[in-house]
Amino acid sequence: MATPIERLVVDPVTSVFEWAESLYHAVLWRWKQPPEGRIDLQYPLNTELRIAVFGFSVRPQPGVRNFAATELKELENFQPQALAAPLLELRRIGAARRSGEVMLKNLTHPLLVFSTPETGLLREEDREDLWNLFELPVYEQLRTGGGELIAQSCEAQEGLHLEPGTGAPQGLEWKLADNSCACGRGRLLSRAATAGD
Ligand SMILES: [Zn+2]
Repeated sequence: MATPIERLVVDPVTSVFEWAESLYHAVLWRWKQPPEGRIDLQYPLNTELRIAVFGFSVRPQPGVRNFAATELKELENFQPQALAAPLLELRRIGAARRSGEVMLKNLTHPLLVFSTPETGLLREEDREDLWNLFELPVYEQLRTGGGELIAQSCEAQEGLHLEPGTGAPQGLEWKLADNSCACGRGRLLSRAATAGD
């Protein structure tokens, strides 16, 4: 393969255009990136995966990339093995996949859903929707609007464990399990059933 300099000699006009175009795309890509996050993703599995993150901007780590909501084409090119995103974003991606706009053929690992005190914890029908769209297990993280982790799914059973030193947020409909959990992390927080559920 010819080096850029050799190509410049062979075909200066095309080379300069290609170079300018790649520079333009690099600048555009950089400009479209959300600011680098200071929060840790804490994906539940300890394997190194290609994980596409929406909704929050997380600290860079190998395989993990932050995406803006509009970047569906970039998402397809990234070929994520896992998604971490708010419910609404996952629904949108699932719909795009169903319509054939994206394929996401390598998506084989559990979904990580970001909930906030504003959105509330996942409801049973939300979980069913996600299952219908992706057929993947679901982990949930409850985070503040700024992305700080409040609680996350227990890996032994349904419900979330509060992070050490964190209290359940105001306004969230939640209940605490009566018994301590088999995983050894204290009692479980789960969504309180409300009228209409
Ligand atoms: Zn547990």
